[in-house]
Amino acid sequence: MHFRRMNHRRRFFGHFAGALIVCTFAAYASAQVHFRLQTREAVGAHLKSFSTRNSEREALIRKWFADSGCKDANLSEQALDRRLPPNVICVLPGETQEVILVGAHTDKVDNFGDGVVDNWTGAVLLPSLLYSLSAQPRHHTLIFVGFSGEEKGLVGSRYYVDHLTSEQRTHIDGMVNFDSLGLGPTEVWASHADKALLDALASVAAASKLPVTTMNVDNLGTADSESFARYQIPRITLHSVTQKTWPILHSPFDKLAAIKMNDYYDSYRLVAEYLAYLDDALKPPPAPKPDKAAH
Ligand SMILES: [Zn+2]
Repeated sequence: MHFRRMNHRRRFFGHFAGALIVCTFAAYASAQVHFRLQTREAVGAHLKSFSTRNSEREALIRKWFADSGCKDANLSEQALDRRLPPNVICVLPGETQEVILVGAHTDKVDNFGDGVVDNWTGAVLLPSLLYSLSAQPRHHTLIFVGFSGEEKGLVGSRYYVDHLTSEQRTHIDGMVNFDSLGLGPTEVWASHADKALLDALASVAAASKLPVTTMNVDNLGTADSESFARYQIPRITLHSVTQKTWPILHSPFDKLAAIKMNDYYDSYRLVAEYLAYLDDALKPPPAPKPDKAAH
């Protein structure tokens, strides 16, 4: 999370919603939702292997992308400037050029804590989700991006989206962002989420019986999803921050000990299923059948 102003912490909580998202099963029941999961031990081992140096964090995510099968032209880095590590990008080609973009920032804020919550928890999920979704062909091309420089003002995500062509931007059906998971059950920044992406999340949460609640962060912070909103690209950010746990971010308490592993693993399960569902749900509707009466 990138804080707007540190001294605005308290204003945020007037916007606390905490409402459970509810939905119907109808759309979910007919969807193709196939994915696999890394074990809790594997995800936990990656979480524990954090570095507090941003260049090493980026390099670890790149290595784990490669370990999960992303290589050659599909694995790349995007240089920003000399002061910041690059963005790291892994492409999982699909059957079409339509894209679901999966993002999380790899950097931590300077000086405070280990940056495990904010946002090693999100970054580590990128290669795990690549593993989860790569076992079978996908309609969408999935692009996983570990953004650099989020804590400097969404630098990496702005650079990434600004350097796409307008045609590339029109192919992005959704941008799903993870920032600061594992402090508790999954939360969603609903007030800054695309309605269709939010409805799909509600469907998956209900079907999987994994919890998601609304927790808006409008007046306090921002996240890489907002770089995409500037181009009207549908976006959603998942996190885990509540009124109680917010002060952990950007503090000496942002450490591995702050993570609730059961909640974190539930977030991983939820987002793996969510992305598999979105791949199906965001397909264009089938073309209408030819009208026989015309013959
Ligand atoms: Zn942050």
